[in-house]
Amino acid sequence: MSDTKNDKGALSRRRLLKKTVAAAAGGAALLAQAGAFAQPPAAVTKRRFKAWISRGDGPGRTTLQEAVLRPITGRQVLVRTEATNLCYSNVPAVLGLTPPGVPATRPNGLGPPPGARRLNDMAVIQGHGGVGVVEGVGPEVRRVQVGDRVCVSGTPQCGSCYRCLRGRSDMCQFLSANGADDLVAMADLPDGTPVYQNSHIGGLAELMVTFEEWVVPIFTKLPAADVGMACSCTAVAGLGATVAHALIAIEPASSVAVVGCGPLGLSAVQGARIAGASTIIAIDPIAARRDAARKVGATHVLDPNAEGDGLVQRVRALTTWPTDRLWSGGRNPSGRRPGAGADYVIEAAGAENAAPKLERGPDPNGILPMQQSYQMCSQGGHLITTSLVRGDLTLPGALFSIGGVTHHAGQAGGCSPMRDIPRFVELTEKKQFDAKTLATTVVPLERMLEAYEEVAYRTTITAIMTA
Ligand SMILES: [Zn+2]
Ligand SMILES: [Zn+2]
Repeated sequence: MSDTKNDKGALSRRRLLKKTVAAAAGGAALLAQAGAFAQPPAAVTKRRFKAWISRGDGPGRTTLQEAVLRPITGRQVLVRTEATNLCYSNVPAVLGLTPPGVPATRPNGLGPPPGARRLNDMAVIQGHGGVGVVEGVGPEVRRVQVGDRVCVSGTPQCGSCYRCLRGRSDMCQFLSANGADDLVAMADLPDGTPVYQNSHIGGLAELMVTFEEWVVPIFTKLPAADVGMACSCTAVAGLGATVAHALIAIEPASSVAVVGCGPLGLSAVQGARIAGASTIIAIDPIAARRDAARKVGATHVLDPNAEGDGLVQRVRALTTWPTDRLWSGGRNPSGRRPGAGADYVIEAAGAENAAPKLERGPDPNGILPMQQSYQMCSQGGHLITTSLVRGDLTLPGALFSIGGVTHHAGQAGGCSPMRDIPRFVELTEKKQFDAKTLATTVVPLERMLEAYEEVAYRTTITAIMTA
């Protein structure tokens, strides 16, 4: 009897437990549903964190300081930084170097119109993105939750602006709202100076505060440096140009020329391989970068200094089709310009932000490589330009008008962050994308500046700061 009683008791306890579990599960489901519309408000404020703060003009403008976080609100997301790439485009702003050929009256090339608030006078955390873990969200945030690992993308994607709605989220119109008067202070220095972040995202700090338009959840356990490389602005642009299929769709067995093999170009080389191109020509003046290109998939490497004026013709020769017989699928039967030209050209050279300490390219302003990129492209081929150059471009007018080269330009190789960045993470996890060969320098936060010098003088391919 007592056994039965005990059994009954045990049974009812089990029932009760079951009921409780069921209720808890139901509650969790309800919470999860509610989570689709609201999240608990962030309780993160007054937190102290280390940040590289840039302010003033000239070398020495960036120093490691302690800042105090402001409360977040609305669509803001607080991210604890795991890794940030040290982008070459940010060299003038971080190191305070005046690029060769830029008048000193416009320090760092960042001079605003007269009378406007100067970004250089504000305390700004440089960088434009990275990867990390969400530590707080404003009450309106839907895209990510506390604890999510995220890429803070260099380009936003709101999904509802004119450009996003027309399939060009790489040109999302949130992107252009990043001037001195658009930025929102996210912290304060001990003396009360407000702290801002470059492009609403920063990255060269232990924390980033951004808006949900810039974050992409990435569900991966990859090491921070690898995922930081794969989600960097440069890798996203190089892979975007080649595998996102937003601007072009590289066909299997096609030929691809990549002009400039920094981290963006080397990502494009990999993207061309992943897309199935059979001829991949990588062009860079730096021998170490040509070696890296070969390692990650280039079938041919060319030194633009060695090729000189013959570079375009050399690419045309390397892309010669097996037959020139017109009725047999032949290509280039006229013989006036021997060779075919690359089916796709990814231009990724760009202007110098500092005089390199390794091999220099033929044009410090990056114009010549851009002109050559146009001219080495096949009739009927596609060119994507990705780099930042200084000056104006001159092209043969007839080639431009009826040469059949289709030119594509955009941010991040045209990629759509929410659609494509998780794919790039997947490519990295499955070892189709080699992040390690590109991230030749990996440093902790405290050594950020010295790593940035390596990037500036091109003595490394690129650098990742881990925090
Ligand atoms: Zn960048
Ligand atoms: Zn948009």
